[in-house]
Amino acid sequence: MEFSEVLVRYGELSTKGKNRREFINRLHGNVSRALHDLSHLDISTKRDRMHIKLNGENWEVVDEKLSKVFGIETYSPAIKVSKNIEDIQEAAVEMMKAIYHEGLSFKVNTRRSDHEYDLDTNEINQLVGGSVTDALPDIAVKMKNPDVVLRIEVRHDAVYLSNRTIKGAGGLPVGTAGKAMLMLSGGIDSPVASYLTMKRGIEIEMVHFYSPPYTTDKALAKAKALTSKLAAYSGKIKFIAVPFAHIQEQIKQNIPEGYLMTVQRRFMLKLTDLIREQRKGLAISNGESIGQVASQTLESMMAINDVTTTPIIRPVATLDKTDIIRISEKIDTFDLSVMPFEDCCTIFAPTRPKTRPKTEKAVLYENALDSESMIQEALDNIQITDIYPDQDFISTNNQDEFEDLL
Ligand code: ATP
Ligand code: MG
Repeated sequence: MEFSEVLVRYGELSTKGKNRREFINRLHGNVSRALHDLSHLDISTKRDRMHIKLNGENWEVVDEKLSKVFGIETYSPAIKVSKNIEDIQEAAVEMMKAIYHEGLSFKVNTRRSDHEYDLDTNEINQLVGGSVTDALPDIAVKMKNPDVVLRIEVRHDAVYLSNRTIKGAGGLPVGTAGKAMLMLSGGIDSPVASYLTMKRGIEIEMVHFYSPPYTTDKALAKAKALTSKLAAYSGKIKFIAVPFAHIQEQIKQNIPEGYLMTVQRRFMLKLTDLIREQRKGLAISNGESIGQVASQTLESMMAINDVTTTPIIRPVATLDKTDIIRISEKIDTFDLSVMPFEDCCTIFAPTRPKTRPKTEKAVLYENALDSESMIQEALDNIQITDIYPDQDFISTNNQDEFEDLL
């Protein structure tokens, strides 16, 4: 079956009143970017839907890419035919034959925006339904909850038929809600937080702390590979690598063991916030989940959060680990996340971090450090790269090596 178009229905944005135009334009831009490899497509937007003309491009490829664009409620591959009723019937039969299996039920649902058309919606339903049951005598006609709704739209220019409605990615178009800095480690939680943040329309830039020579190039490559997976949802993500070893060494030398973790995290957050300010972000997002580890008790979060008043989004704060893992499998980051590389926090992790640190103590200990120059040095040495979907940061050779390790 060769589809000629895809009809895309908007998600929540249809309720957004006067922002609607901006949302639709952004969605148009995001869809165009997601499909930019396919040069023959014609994408046009209307008030209530988007229309993609395939012009011979492969529907399966479009489907794969469209499924990752936030702001889409549902979409349907469709066939465009002339307004001649025989043409409509013929296309309907062909479409239903393509998906028919024993026990299948269906109904025809016609809408007309061309009210001059000489058949009304009931007549069209009956004529088309009749030709389908003639061609497929065992198919059941069911008005309530049929397996398949064969939708027919009679427009001024032509008639469109579709019999599949595919659930889109939901959420809001990325970029409609401003920009946040996403604190990305190599773990399971922060990639899931990235996905959920983008889903609400927020553009993200990754901030990743790394600590050579204590951490390897592979740990950095893993964070970039995760970013590439997530870039499938937005087209491109800036990856900001922040060298952290020097700060960690000074913390290790000067701060009591019980506060190593709290002070490290305060520095990370402070640095992220300064980078956010430079880059005109409006929020910080991270993968903290309440109670998961010592740094994620409410007392810890309070002592760490003390360095900034910037809104911090914690999309997985209240999710159970099993739910987070389920999402990471769905977005295909899980296998990368579980690759065994030490990240900067594991290397300098105290054996017994305080689970109830006091903010005043953290501040007091920090006063022994030359925080300003430590922070400036890290900021002077950040590296920023653009990361795109499907970039290969971990070669297949390496992957075999990892599997041996697992
Ligand atoms: P994750 O699975 O995301 O690594 P985690 O359960 O391992 O989370 P932590 O290591 O305590 O939790 O980190 C909590 C959050 O702090 C992370 O989700 C991430 O947002 C941030 N974070 C931790 N390490 C780094 C890092 N190296 N660079 C940037 N952010 C980090
Ligand atoms: Mg981690």
